[in-house]
This record gives sequence, C-alpha cells and structure tokens, in this order.
Amino acid sequence: MFRSILVPIDLDQESSWQRALPVADRMAHDHGARLHALTVLPGFGMSLVGSYFPADFERRAHDTYAARLESLVQQHCREPGGVTTHVRHGTIYAEILAAARELDCDLIVMASHRPALADYLLGPNAARVVRHADRSVFVVRG
Ligand code: ADP
Repeated sequence: MFRSILVPIDLDQESSWQRALPVADRMAHDHGARLHALTVLPGFGMSLVGSYFPADFERRAHDTYAARLESLVQQHCREPGGVTTHVRHGTIYAEILAAARELDCDLIVMASHRPALADYLLGPNAARVVRHADRSVFVVRG
C-alpha cells in the first residue's frame, strides 16, 4: 500500500526514534516499501549566529550527524542496506515536508513529542508536519 516511508529522527533525542524507527522499519518491510531516515540540522548558513562559527562547522556537523544516523540505522533496522539516510539543513518541519515531497514518500512516520513535554499531545514539529503534509502521517506515541 505504501511505497516509500520517511522517518524523521532527532539524533539528540532518543525518544524520537526508539519506538518510531522500529514501527517505520516494520511497516516498510510489511509494505515492501523503501525506507528513508532523515535528520535535520539547524541551518546556520547566512545567519548572524552562523558568522561566529568556523567556516567548515556546518560541513563537519553534517558529516558527524550523517555517520550517527547511518550507525543508528545499522543497529536498529532489519535490512539496513535497504534504508537510505539523509541529512538536511534548515527549519526542521519545513525540511521534513520538503524531503517527503522530493523523495516522493507517501507516508511519514514520526514520534509525537519528547517525554518531558508530557502536557502536549504533539510537539511543535510533529504538529506542523501533520498540519501541512499533503500525505499520510503516522504519529507514534511514546
Ligand atoms: P519535541 O519538541 O517534544 O521534541 P518535536 O515536534 O520537535 O517535539 O518532535 C517530534 C518529532 O519531530 C520527532 O520525533 C522527529 O520525528 C521530528 N524531529 C524533531 N527534531 C528533528 C530533527 N532535528 N531532525 C529530524 N526530525 C526531527
């Protein structure tokens, strides 16, 4: 039914993948779908803040997070070879939506929020993705 699944992961927040990644992995397996794992780094680019970082900071951060994401997939997915990893820079929810469009994913699987925000039913990025996505979103609750 689903051909291509996107699972957005905050590598600094274990709760973003602990339940959602196995669910996405299982759904990809059951549907014979391609699995894409994505992490988004803040875009420092042209900002004032960015000008205080060394010139190659963004590239080094990119490489570090790419390696961490790859290692997470290797450890937690049943067929890691069939999973494509992506690192993007910018506004988190906007990059998740753009990646889903560009990769032609027909399902986004994501955790609802971190445990510390127990009063909220949806975190800020999950809420925006659900509101703006023109495709299915499966919200995995902790
Ligand atoms: P919270 O602020 O409680 O972490 P969010 O809405 O930011 O709530 O997080 C919900 C989900 O959004 C995460 O489980 C993950 O799927 C996605 N997300 C959050 N941050 C990132 C990130 N940096 N890269 C990719 N996905 C992210």
